[in-house]
Amino acid sequence: MAHPGPIARLIEQFQKLPGIGEKTATRLAYHVLKSAPVLAQGLAEAIRRVKEEVVLCRSCWNLTDADPCAICRDDRRDPLQICVVEEPPDLLAIERTGKFRGHFHVLHGALSPLDGIGPDDLHFGELLDRLEKLGKKCEVIVATNLNADGEATALYLARILKPIGYRVTRLAQGIPTGGDLEYVDPLSIAKSLENRREL
Ligand SMILES: [Zn+2]
Repeated sequence: MAHPGPIARLIEQFQKLPGIGEKTATRLAYHVLKSAPVLAQGLAEAIRRVKEEVVLCRSCWNLTDADPCAICRDDRRDPLQICVVEEPPDLLAIERTGKFRGHFHVLHGALSPLDGIGPDDLHFGELLDRLEKLGKKCEVIVATNLNADGEATALYLARILKPIGYRVTRLAQGIPTGGDLEYVDPLSIAKSLENRREL
């Protein structure tokens, strides 16, 4: 027997989410159906608002509900330290350490020749513009992931930025190789920030 139309539609929508198969989608749909109306309304409202209200900060390219974001607006932070990360969750991982008081730049990915991702697909140009405005006293701390793409991105940044006079450093090893920053504990990140090395 088929599910009634509206339930089938909800199952179909849930199944479009990553990691959700037909069984889980069906369980979720029936859970929504059985729950108080406030759950369905809250869910629908939260989904709608995340698309309407979350934007990219035009300075650091982090996700934010106010542009410029709270980090870029914070004038107690050191404007001459720019920590470059791949994705917004990496930025949050570094913020959780409480040890970094500079600014960020989110690339939204890493160089990956195999996947056809080159410098023009990431926010490199905007980083160069920012650095130019800030001057040569800037330190660029490359906190891309410690896997092949992250390393390639770090080397690319060093190759571009060092010849024009910027200091470029890289998180120290100590984060498991292949490690996605997002899942590394704050203490290890804090340590590898502290022991960062010149590139
Ligand atoms: Zn920002």
